[in-house]
Amino acid sequence: MEVILGSPRGFCAGVVRAIDVVALALQRFGPPVYVKHQIVHNPTVVASLEAKGAITVEDVEEIPPGSVVVFSAHGSPPEDYRKAQARNLRVIDATCPLVTKVHNEARRFHREGKRIILIGHRGHQEVRGTMGQAPMLLVDEREGVHLPDWDANTEVAVLTQTTLSVDDTARAVEAIRQRFPKALIRNDLCYATTNRQAVVKALAKEADVILVIGARNSSNCNRLREVASAQGVPAYLVNGPEEIRPEYLNGAQRVGVISGASTPESLVQAVVNALRPQRIRHLTLAEEDITFVLPRELREEAPTP
Ligand code: SF4
Repeated sequence: MEVILGSPRGFCAGVVRAIDVVALALQRFGPPVYVKHQIVHNPTVVASLEAKGAITVEDVEEIPPGSVVVFSAHGSPPEDYRKAQARNLRVIDATCPLVTKVHNEARRFHREGKRIILIGHRGHQEVRGTMGQAPMLLVDEREGVHLPDWDANTEVAVLTQTTLSVDDTARAVEAIRQRFPKALIRNDLCYATTNRQAVVKALAKEADVILVIGARNSSNCNRLREVASAQGVPAYLVNGPEEIRPEYLNGAQRVGVISGASTPESLVQAVVNALRPQRIRHLTLAEEDITFVLPRELREEAPTP
């Protein structure tokens, strides 16, 4: 069997930064450091930070007053910041700067009097954070593109969740553009999402089956599996070797392997080792060299070298 290892894969700059933020906060302030929502959607990452003293909670009101809290990479609604202030929490914000950009756009378009449509998945943490920034209408393309009965000349601005399928989003955008020809369309799909989906399409041309390494609650990992399936190749989401079922590999000579933006490389290597391939071939579409600076709270207190 041959493994075709796709690249870029794994951690994006926003995930690296969010994990670093929790690790640095633990060093600087000592445990416990509370984390509002899973810092990134991967149980292996969460468990390793919890082993060092991080405590993950879903509601800011669960956190004892005066504690240190890190807000997750997915972004949070203003209400969470208000709750944190009321409890006198020290907030360190690990929201990915590319999500913050969407928040800023939402507030600006609202100030400019535009009506906002967000393409995103109902209930996802990032969508909850973005929808808290300004009044907006959610279009979840999985439910069909249901558009409001606004005048066709309405000034509409269209934002997107950062981790959606490039192709599904393009279809939803086209439907909105047909209905509101003057709509201002922002493409907020992030570079990591776009790059990994391009890799999975290239893998689908060469592999008999694709394994996407990542967690079930990770939006970008689920989209990778769907993109592979849409290319007509069987694809499975596994978060480690123990989740590979023998039937996934039935007769497969070439197994494509890719991981989502929240998946540690150690899980990819564990899967590749478990496959015991005769050959590993690398399929690399791009090099990623993006990094994000740490939040101000941690930069300012960094010890001088
Ligand atoms: S997937 Fe994209 S938006 Fe999300 S944390 Fe990574 S870089 Fe940021």
